[in-house]
Amino acid sequence: MTERLGGPRLLVKRDDLTALALGGNKTRKLEYLIADALGKGADTVITAGGIQSNHCRLTAAAATLHGLRCELVLGADPPTRPATGNLLLDGLFGATVHWSDPDAREATMESVADQLRARGQVPYLIPVGGSNGLGAVGYVAAMHELCAQLRDLDWTVDHIIVASSSGGTQAGLVVGARLSGFSGRVLGISIDQQQAGGLFPRRLSAIANETAALLGVEERFDGADFDLDYGYLGGGYGVVGDLERDAIGQAARWEGLLVGPVYTGRALGAMLEMIRRELFAPTETVLFWHTGDTPALFAYGEQLLGSAP
Ligand SMILES: *Cc1c(COP(=O)(O)O)cnc(C)c1O
Repeated sequence: MTERLGGPRLLVKRDDLTALALGGNKTRKLEYLIADALGKGADTVITAGGIQSNHCRLTAAAATLHGLRCELVLGADPPTRPATGNLLLDGLFGATVHWSDPDAREATMESVADQLRARGQVPYLIPVGGSNGLGAVGYVAAMHELCAQLRDLDWTVDHIIVASSSGGTQAGLVVGARLSGFSGRVLGISIDQQQAGGLFPRRLSAIANETAALLGVEERFDGADFDLDYGYLGGGYGVVGDLERDAIGQAARWEGLLVGPVYTGRALGAMLEMIRRELFAPTETVLFWHTGDTPALFAYGEQLLGSAP
């Protein structure tokens, strides 16, 4: 890809290959969240997401691996076609699915928790995307891992490009960058958060400050610590447009590399466009932090290939 584009040197951090149930960034958060659930004596985890949520699929896998039940609140209408992609995997992992109005997911999680408590069970609630201070600790560790790898190879990275949505990934990376002295930029490509009102940087800094407090470090963060691009919201969350379709196709044909329809296709599409606009110097190194999303490809056959391949 580096040669074809003739721009900066490109690297990919393969968190699509984290070692659980087809991989993705949520595995790194769940290492900490599931440990906390077990430590608190929970027997069931509850979380929420969209119908093709990678976070819900990985929560279901991590829960069953550790002997916990899993209840998923999916903000969608029940599908009329057979389950596919992440939703198929949720079923294989034995999760119970509750269908909810997308705006009522938190309330539905609370009411599922109340019902479980009434039956004597001990639920543990994980927020959408696993994005709280504890989940983001997984991405502080991930940044330390990257810096150690770069040191071993004697490489430097000038820009990290990462898909950002519920915020825990970028918040953890930015805390990790500060703590490990990473000198490059961490640029979040907003997948679905709007720029208006500056709400998202405030949310990122709140998560980062919670993470720093949990780690017992003095560092504090505010909205200005987060570099975001809101220019790639496209047709909205989960909608594949030309940008995503082209990026998915190019990664597949040029590198045999799969990126997904909801998050990583959009973030990679953003990166490719920035390279075409020559926003990076040819001497720079850009790292695409691949956060997963590939199982969702199977739910997007028509949008990606049309009715016949
Ligand atoms: C959840 C998710 C993201 C976004 O991470 P956040 O921590 O929610 O910002 C990016 N890519 C994939 C594949 C995801 O599933």
